[in-house]
Amino acid sequence: MKKDVQPEYYQATVTCNCGNTFTVGSTQEDIHVEICSKCHPFYTGQQKAASARGRIEKFNKKYGVKAEA
Ligand SMILES: [Zn+2]
Repeated sequence: MKKDVQPEYYQATVTCNCGNTFTVGSTQEDIHVEICSKCHPFYTGQQKAASARGRIEKFNKKYGVKAEA
């Protein structure tokens, strides 16, 4: 384990697009995210999960990936 190369470590303030803020340990002081645990579809009834699946299907179709692969 190398000990000589360690980045600065902050308690970063994370600001989400939904307005929620929270702190995490990070090498960056300020972080802006588009989604957090408060507004992530996984935590909010999975309303956006369907559209995410649609994007994946589109991607698979575009690159010829078979769904069952
Ligand atoms: Zn959020």
